[in-house]
Formats: sequence, structure tokens, C-alpha cells
Amino acid sequence: MNNSIQIDNIGCLYTANENGVQSYENTSLIIENGLISSIGDSCEINSINCNGKMVTAGFVDSHTHPVFLNNRENEYSMRIAGSSYEEIAKNGGGIISSVNGVRNASEDELVEKLEKRVNRFIQNGTTTIEAKSGYGLDTDSELKSLSVIDRVNQKHTIDIIPTFMGAHAIPAEYNNNPNDYINLVCDEMIPEVSKQGIALFNDVFCEEGYFNIAETRKILNKGIEYGLKPRMHADEFIDSGAAQLAGEIGVFSADHLMAVSDSGIESLAQNDVIGTLLPGTTFFLGKSNYAPARKLINAGINLALATDFNPGSSNIQSMPFIISLACLFMGMTVEEAFQAATYNGAKSLGLENKVGSIELGMKADLILWDLNSLIEIPYYISNHPIQKVIKNGEIVFGA
Ligand SMILES: [Zn+2]
Repeated sequence: MNNSIQIDNIGCLYTANENGVQSYENTSLIIENGLISSIGDSCEINSINCNGKMVTAGFVDSHTHPVFLNNRENEYSMRIAGSSYEEIAKNGGGIISSVNGVRNASEDELVEKLEKRVNRFIQNGTTTIEAKSGYGLDTDSELKSLSVIDRVNQKHTIDIIPTFMGAHAIPAEYNNNPNDYINLVCDEMIPEVSKQGIALFNDVFCEEGYFNIAETRKILNKGIEYGLKPRMHADEFIDSGAAQLAGEIGVFSADHLMAVSDSGIESLAQNDVIGTLLPGTTFFLGKSNYAPARKLINAGINLALATDFNPGSSNIQSMPFIISLACLFMGMTVEEAFQAATYNGAKSLGLENKVGSIELGMKADLILWDLNSLIEIPYYISNHPIQKVIKNGEIVFGA
């Protein structure tokens, strides 16, 4: 057999799908041409011995902002000294401070930075990420950011799902006429992004001080008109009715939801919208307002978990750590958190038939752990005993 690998002597294999977590004991896998071709059989080919340890599907991180130039550790210090995220933003920090970096950087510089970050995702067992633009906030810089994502996606084995997020913030030069910026997003950026075919999704930061309900509706509908699928940052700081809008539009995912109202929850549930929770942001900002995961699950909403990796409010790239936070602070079970970090993340990207679980014909995206059971993932809160990461059947970490 060509391009075949066998993963042998797996003590326990865990994978999730719409029915929850499945496990197989004392099993093996065969990968052919990058895809899972058999579970449980073995044959005499190149084999990797797991020595009875655990194998899981690779993580799907369905919400990241990885295209920026420099880190923002100075803001972290300001926050430790007592400034809030909102205060830092008002003083020229926050999203806007990353905008100057992206506007002035060359595409090559940004590619180099993104590649390093992508390697760190891989080391933490993440084999698929969604990546947003949104630190350019002018047509050229947004297109440049998406081109950076595209170039790294072509070069790197990780799968990167590109999202256009021109509506991440109003850039300073439009502070006095935000409507003109919204028109720029709708009439220039979205048509050009669509023409270049370099984004699958269109995301809007629907929040007080960013984009209100009417503006968000307009931008998402314009994207839909141009073939960009909608997703939203919703009800992060206050309940602005964003979750109701997410339900009304039928977005692929409504993200954050720390301040979601009961009617917002109802709207998400009725319209089968996935809620993506980002507990890393709450944790990184030193807050305690975690999203009401149990309430959302009890309402019948499927939850995904993601890092929200970005230089301001979540310098976190580890999905195992996010699973720890989800279990400790949001009352999710380990099984729920694992499903949210794999299958449901893939579903929120429309990729559940390709990645996020270990099934015949799916991409062979696997984590070989030096662990024995799922419960140990959140238990090892600050280091992750990962032996190898396999993407498309290739060892990309721990060779
Ligand atoms: Zn975000």
C-alpha cells in the first residue's frame, strides 16, 4: 500500500460526533492517502506504536485572530495595574493599536509571523483553525490580511478557514462618520473579497461601541449576497440583542455570549445556531463573567469551544487549556468540552464531514497522547502530554 500508515496499539481512541463522544478500546487505525481508511483492522505496513496510550481527533479552533504584527504585552501590564479592556481601547490601545501594525507591515512580514503562530497551534494539537482578518480596516489591508492567510494555508499542512472581518472595529479616521466606514465595508470590501475568493465567512463585532444591530444586519446580509457565510461576535460585554439577530439571520455561529439574554438563547435554539464559547478571553482579562454554558446546553444549543487567540484579550493557543477552563468555570463535562473542541467546532465551519472526528473517509487529523483517558486532558491544565500530532496522515509534530 502506498502512502499508508498504521497507528497501532491504541489503548483508547476518543472521537465525537453529533451523538456525543465515542470510544474504542485496544484498537488501531489505518490511514491511506491522508484519510482514515480503517478503524480496528491491522496490516503489515509502516506502523506507529502508541504503547497502549490514547488517541483523539485533532482539535478544531473555530475562532482566532492570528494576523497581526506585534504582541500587546504593554496592555496586559496596564490591565494588571487596573485598567479595563474598554479603558485601554479608549486610550488608543485595543484593536486599533494592532491596525497600525498590519497597515504598515509587508505581506511577507505578516506571513512569517503567522507561520510561527500556526506552528504553535500544531504543537498544541490543533489541526484546523478558522482565521479572521480585521486588523487592517481599510480595503488594501483587509485584502492583504486575507492574502497572508491564503499563502500560509497553501504552504502549511494545517487547514486554515478564512474569515473576512472588516467589521471588527471602526477605524480612527472614521470616528466622526462611522456610516461611511460601513458603506466602505459593504460597497467596496465585501465585493472585492468575494471577487478574489479569499474568504468563506463574514464576521461582525456586534457590540456597543462597535457595530449595532442594524449595521450588523446590513453587513451580514451584504456578505450573504456575495456568497460569504455569516458569523458573529455576539453579546460579549452587554446584551445588545445580538443573539436574537444571530438567530434571525441563521448565522453559522454566534460567539462569546457572556451577556446573552434569555430571549437571545431562545432565538439561537429555535434557529439551530451553534454557540461558540471563548472562556480564554474571560480568563485572560482577569474577569469572572464566563458564558452560561449549562443554560445554553439545557436550551438545546450545540456549543463549540475556541481560543479567540488575539494579541489583546486572549494570547492563548491551547485548546486543552480551553477545555480545562470550560470544565472548571462553565460547568461543562469533559465529554461536552471535547465534543465542543472537535466535532462542534468543525460543524460551526461547515466542515463536519471532513475534520473534527475519526470516521472512515475523514481526514487523518490525530493527536497521539501520553495519556490514558479523556479526563486527563483538562487535568493536565498547564502542560499537554502530546506525543505526536498527525495532519492529513502526516506527522507534523513529534516526529
Ligand atoms: Zn474574536
